[in-house]
Amino acid sequence: MLNIVLFGPPGAGKGTQSNLLINKYNLVHLSTGDILRSEISEGTKLGVEAKSIMDRGDLVSDEIVIGMISSKLDNNPDANGFIFDGFPRTEAQATALDNLLKGKETSISVMLSLKVADDELIKRLLKRGKDSGRADDKNESIIANRINEYNNKTAPLKTFYSNQDKLSEIEGIGSVEEIANRLNSVIDNL
Ligand code: AMP
Repeated sequence: MLNIVLFGPPGAGKGTQSNLLINKYNLVHLSTGDILRSEISEGTKLGVEAKSIMDRGDLVSDEIVIGMISSKLDNNPDANGFIFDGFPRTEAQATALDNLLKGKETSISVMLSLKVADDELIKRLLKRGKDSGRADDKNESIIANRINEYNNKTAPLKTFYSNQDKLSEIEGIGSVEEIANRLNSVIDNL
């Protein structure tokens, strides 16, 4: 199986690149942000709980997102592999993911970490806020909080995966196609 952690700060291009990778490598896309937003639009109890946390740009609890990923893995027993987008975001989530995959006799193949400078992230997120109406993309102080959460709780996961010899850092500036080519060449050389 090919199991990819597509990593990077908010606005790094994880969603865009995931959509290209799932087609090229026939993978299942698991984005905890997308799953949470669909819970919100369906008005589920989980969605109601998560909304105010997401609107502030804070992280939803590990327990909730680990549970969501666990059930998605169970629901896709015949997958060729998975792209984890926006998950894991904490060390507890990364450890839980390793254990879930171990239970299915598989593991993470690689962490592809997209590198983009903060000023470019803010520009991209504000544009997405305008185009999509996403509440957490519209306000600069919420964006700053998300980047802060990333730097404090999520970025250390690069060490977690580099300790397993799985980290590959990729320049996230350039055209969508250029960045896709960089990702593809890492995957093709695994
Ligand atoms: P994203 O679409 O990945 O930018 O996620 C949007 C928001 O959903 C984040 O700012 C968090 O509030 C929440 N979220 C998504 N994935 C996770 C996760 N793995 N752990 C905690 N919170 C998450």
